Amino acid sequence: MDFALTEEQTAIFDMAYAFGQEHIAPHARTWEKDGTIPKSLWPQLAELGFGGLYVSEESGGSGLSRLDATLVFEALSMACPSVAAFLSIHNMCARMIDSYASDDFKARVLPKALSMETVLSYCLTEPGSGSDAAALKTRAQKTNEGYVLNGTKAFISGGGYSDAYVTMVRTGEDGPKGISTVYVEDGTPGLSFGAAEDKMGWCSQPTAQVQFDDCAIPHDNLIGEEGKGFRYAMAGLDGGRLNISACSLGAAQTALDLTLQYMSERKAFGQSIDQFQALQFRLADMEIELQAARTFLRQAAWKLDTGAPDATKFCAMAKKFVTEAGSRTVDQCLQLHGGYGYLADYGIEKLVRDLRVHQILEGTNEIMRLITARHMLAG
Ligand SMILES: Cc1cc2nc3c(=O)[nH]c(=O)nc-3n(C[C@H](O)[C@H](O)[C@H](O)COP(=O)(O)OP(=O)(O)OC[C@H]3O[C@@H](n4cnc5c(N)ncnc54)[C@H](O)[C@@H]3O)c2cc1C
Repeated sequence: MDFALTEEQTAIFDMAYAFGQEHIAPHARTWEKDGTIPKSLWPQLAELGFGGLYVSEESGGSGLSRLDATLVFEALSMACPSVAAFLSIHNMCARMIDSYASDDFKARVLPKALSMETVLSYCLTEPGSGSDAAALKTRAQKTNEGYVLNGTKAFISGGGYSDAYVTMVRTGEDGPKGISTVYVEDGTPGLSFGAAEDKMGWCSQPTAQVQFDDCAIPHDNLIGEEGKGFRYAMAGLDGGRLNISACSLGAAQTALDLTLQYMSERKAFGQSIDQFQALQFRLADMEIELQAARTFLRQAAWKLDTGAPDATKFCAMAKKFVTEAGSRTVDQCLQLHGGYGYLADYGIEKLVRDLRVHQILEGTNEIMRLITARHMLAG
């Protein structure tokens, strides 16, 4: 057993970190205020191979392992978790296409997705179904030419911003077996968007409803086989959970680094506040929790990479553990900054807001416990 990163993995982390510090961190607050990320950022990230991190090399992707990809998201989140998490969603969609779509479809769609000329969104949640995703109601009626979509997707990251929507729709019976995955390009007649949601965090990425009103798509826009869409959507989520955990981890590490620095400079009662043992213990607790979170996350990624039978359980457990550890850490870091932690200039309050949603999406942390318990009981 070897817990060390390889030289190549260290280089991947360093490259993502350097890019994030130069091209993302200086703008993160402005993009948050603007409520959008400039589209010109994505091709720059794609040049580093980040548009298809775990799309196979045969398909033109980077062919990285899931563990390697967590390093990219951890490093980019040290600059801004909202930007990094958005990239994760695009990558989840690109991987679904590479894994399940026909060769013709891949040849048509993947090159621009990999160069991030086409930014992808993932549309599963609906106003009436979130955790119970298999209850989705958006219907795709088969016609001679393809499908006509009717229904609404809720909370879609990149709704109204992305160039294409990988969408889970009902083509058959109730339940998971009646679900298929289709690809809807921006500009398709009948595709429209709700107003941008006013959110607590992740403010640089637009979130909106995606609406389909007699939205006709060609048959060729079916991804994979009819009736298998729920399986594709769930397979994408195992890795998505690792990525979102990595985003919590990177941001929490940044908060801890800032806090260590701040505590060495801030004086109270005649000494720097890092000299109070009560506060040193809190620093130690955060360090222990983040190191444990990092090790657990990488173990779960390794399980997914090696096809371990309990990979789904480990991805769920890691998501629950790491996202909660991340949120606890940034909250403690805010506290240790005193009043300054509450001010945007100190860089902590944004992280508290950004990380909160990681306990809710890609499956809530209650659902992560449910998956864990189901595996335990089945065993
Ligand atoms: C900022 C943001 C971005 C998002 N981006 C996307 C996106 O790009 N694409 C997409 O498809 N979705 C997206 N989502 C949606 C997200 O995945 C859902 O909000 C999430 O899955 C929870 O669904 P829900 O909001 O309907 O809550 P519900 O499912 O209604 O859950 C409400 C509460 O009940 C609990 N609960 C539900 N069922 C159980 C159970 N069986 N046992 C125990 N507890 C349970 C939940 O854990 C939660 O605490 C996003 C959400 C947010 C906030």
